[in-house]
Amino acid sequence: MDDPKGLPFGELANWLKYYRELGFTHLYLQESQRPPAVGTGLQACTATGKNACPTPSGSEPASSFAAPSEPVEPSAALTSRAEKPRSSTAPAGVSSAKSSPAPAPAISPAPALPAVPAPAASLFASVAPRETLEQIREDLGDCRRCKLWKGRATIVFGSGNPNAELLFVGEGPGADEDEQGLPFVGRAGQLLTQMIEKGLKMPRPDVYICNIIKCRPPGNRKPEKDEIAACRQFVERQVDAVHPRVIVVLGATAVETLLGTHQSMGSLRGQWQAFHGIPLMVTYHPAYLLRDPTKKPDAWSDLKKVLARLSSSPSVTG
Ligand code: URA
Repeated sequence: MDDPKGLPFGELANWLKYYRELGFTHLYLQESQRPPAVGTGLQACTATGKNACPTPSGSEPASSFAAPSEPVEPSAALTSRAEKPRSSTAPAGVSSAKSSPAPAPAISPAPALPAVPAPAASLFASVAPRETLEQIREDLGDCRRCKLWKGRATIVFGSGNPNAELLFVGEGPGADEDEQGLPFVGRAGQLLTQMIEKGLKMPRPDVYICNIIKCRPPGNRKPEKDEIAACRQFVERQVDAVHPRVIVVLGATAVETLLGTHQSMGSLRGQWQAFHGIPLMVTYHPAYLLRDPTKKPDAWSDLKKVLARLSSSPSVTG
């Protein structure tokens, strides 16, 4: 079927491929050119089964995350987000008891979209219906795109609120995560939970948590380049699907993957960056904080910036 207003879709797909090869991953229409918002027909994404609220269960308790040294008032946005609508760019077709997302602009007619390969869906992040986490998980399937499938017990996709305002990205699953199929449930996960619940004063199930790679590397080694390359489209699509107001990136692997930089953590942490137009804060990985607790005040200072940003009125992030 051809686009009644312009190019045949086959030709459009060729143009999109061409732009992607040139490195353009996002194309935007000016506000005045956008088509009127229509329903998307996409299914609501619910966190059930393995993606339901995780229960940390590492064998030893993680050391504590220092309570804020100065009082920080959690905003209404964080304690009672049911009353606070998300920005107008909230994911379309995702229902949540906590928010009433406005419908996102959609391209018409929708049935033409399957002709475009799945990763290219992000090309039209601002005009096409967003993918749901369920669709991305389905595409991931019983993944064998890299060698890590051979040693994994489970794929650790992600967990939390599919409509979260805050999204954390870590490196990859360890032994506990591999066993439970949930991210950040071991010792580092317990510390992350404290950072979220004691530091940010948010219930952990309110945020979304995922990793750069979805399968545990043997012996918990760092993920290799080919493994990251095979997996990175999924974390990018997860970020696009959740479309949080703020992303927190934990540690060097996640920073290097999402920002493409090899700058030191010391120079990047605490600085606002952006990923797909979404404000992104870099901070230390909780596993690093367990090894060097003297860095916890730095991590808390980074999280306070996140808290301040979330407490400010929502901005349109594209
Ligand atoms: N470390 C990570 O980066 N991710 C997890 O899920 C657990 C530990």
